[in-house]
Amino acid sequence: MANVIADRIEVVSDDITRLDVTMIVNAANSSLLGGGGVDGAIHRAAGPGLLEECRTLGGCPTGGVRMTGGHRLKARHVLHAVGPVHRDGRSGEPGLLRSCYEEALRLAHEHQAESVAFPCISTGVYGYPKDEACRIATDAVIAWLESHEYPRRVVFCCFGEADARLYRDRLAAIGA
Ligand code: ADP
Repeated sequence: MANVIADRIEVVSDDITRLDVTMIVNAANSSLLGGGGVDGAIHRAAGPGLLEECRTLGGCPTGGVRMTGGHRLKARHVLHAVGPVHRDGRSGEPGLLRSCYEEALRLAHEHQAESVAFPCISTGVYGYPKDEACRIATDAVIAWLESHEYPRRVVFCCFGEADARLYRDRLAAIGA
């Protein structure tokens, strides 16, 4: 990977609700009405205005992304991405997971976002194997950055050092 792309990617081990970025991505479910995991954390930190706004959206299909304001978060916007539940890996999951990253990046590009932070979509309750999800996420982000000016910076916000190591190792393996 060219260094110019590597310089636009960061891996952190943190709570995504604390990050000072333009947009954070939520691993939402298709109702967009809140849930556990990172979704619950984002709604708690953003306050009740986020749920009110989400109610107006009418849900979102798997692989899709919807944008809201950030409410009480530092981030200006939340990109609610609906990742696939991992069944057997042969039910379209890779394409749907990749679509979450691409659709979020497309919205970030449209809004000329400076920075976007992603959690490890689908790898919690939705059961996606972490290494496969990491490969899909890094491939999608690198391909996007190679051909787009925005977002200027992407943060992989891992929840714990083990996930962060997975991302750092993957990026190092592909030459970052
Ligand atoms: P999904 O239903 O898409 O699997 P989860 O919220 O269960 O969503 O998990 C997605 C990922 O988000 C997991 O890797 C989980 O460890 C991580 N996660 C949970 N809370 C946070 C948080 N506050 N900040 C960043 N990542 C988080």
